[in-house]
Amino acid sequence: MLKTTIAGSLPKPAWLAEEEKLWAGWKLEGDTLEQGKVDATILAVKLQEDAGLDIVGDGEQARQHFVHGFLANLDGIDFGKKTIMGIRNNRYNAEVPTVTGKIRRKGPVHTLEACAARAHTAHKLKFTLPGPMTIVDTIADKHYGRREDLAMAFAEVLNEEALELQALGVDVIQFDEPAFNVYMPLVAEWGMAAVERAARGLTCTTAIHICYGYGIKANIDWKGTLGDQWRHYEETFPVIAASKIDQVSLECRNSKVPIELIGLLKGKDVLVGCIDVASDRVETPEEVAATIREAMKYVAPEKLYPCTNCGMAPMSRAVAYGKLAALAKGARIVCEELRGAS
Ligand code: ZN
Repeated sequence: MLKTTIAGSLPKPAWLAEEEKLWAGWKLEGDTLEQGKVDATILAVKLQEDAGLDIVGDGEQARQHFVHGFLANLDGIDFGKKTIMGIRNNRYNAEVPTVTGKIRRKGPVHTLEACAARAHTAHKLKFTLPGPMTIVDTIADKHYGRREDLAMAFAEVLNEEALELQALGVDVIQFDEPAFNVYMPLVAEWGMAAVERAARGLTCTTAIHICYGYGIKANIDWKGTLGDQWRHYEETFPVIAASKIDQVSLECRNSKVPIELIGLLKGKDVLVGCIDVASDRVETPEEVAATIREAMKYVAPEKLYPCTNCGMAPMSRAVAYGKLAALAKGARIVCEELRGAS
């Protein structure tokens, strides 16, 4: 019980990419870059093991961004045709590529780093993919017309990739859907159906991560406008609870999400964010333990997975791995309490 894991991304080594930056540029090229991505993945896996985590991830070391990393090997997208558009309901502007034809995979996208991670850890391995709604919200469309149609087209190729990752030995496949916290009514309309399409046929553990975004300024400013209680999940959790997805990852540490909302996720595993990714202050194990104890009022320890609030890509490596060590230690404190009580 209380198995620890990460939401997704981790900082990359300084020799691979620009540091402490979202959309960081690569410092290597060609075959050297491909080898560098593999090496960084193995390193990330080992550093998570050393930090004491139970379920490790690839740390998204081989992708520049959690959405566009997946798009890179698809047909139907013109990367030269850039559109500047407001994404996440105009929370920030991004220069995005454009869908100009039918979406198809040219071939496997993440095989290389998934194989590297699998070969170098005996721990359970988690792999993240962007969710269909979030992809649709991060790309311009000149072909499909309706957002739900484009989402289903992405769901089909995500499903092909996910089935391959499962066959390579990945234990947990997570779809990242921060857009679920922006377009709440659309989650019930087509967002959840698109995630379930992406997860069709998977027998490994499936997860969905929803959050209030990376710890970047645009998100911190947006959170400042959301008031004292963030109740977005009240609308979406019942829809997720009725779905086939096994796990839900959300931010809880330093968040204004009323913790009792996780009680709406009956039957699901809950990945409780105990680590703030918008602050460089490393949590103490006792602070992590306090968040876990709070969450245990609504989720049984067998269904509770202490986790990070969100991806850690834009952080310094020392801070990120310091936080992961605190996460593991905090979980251990509560595990020992539970053992003592039984
Ligand atoms: Zn997130």
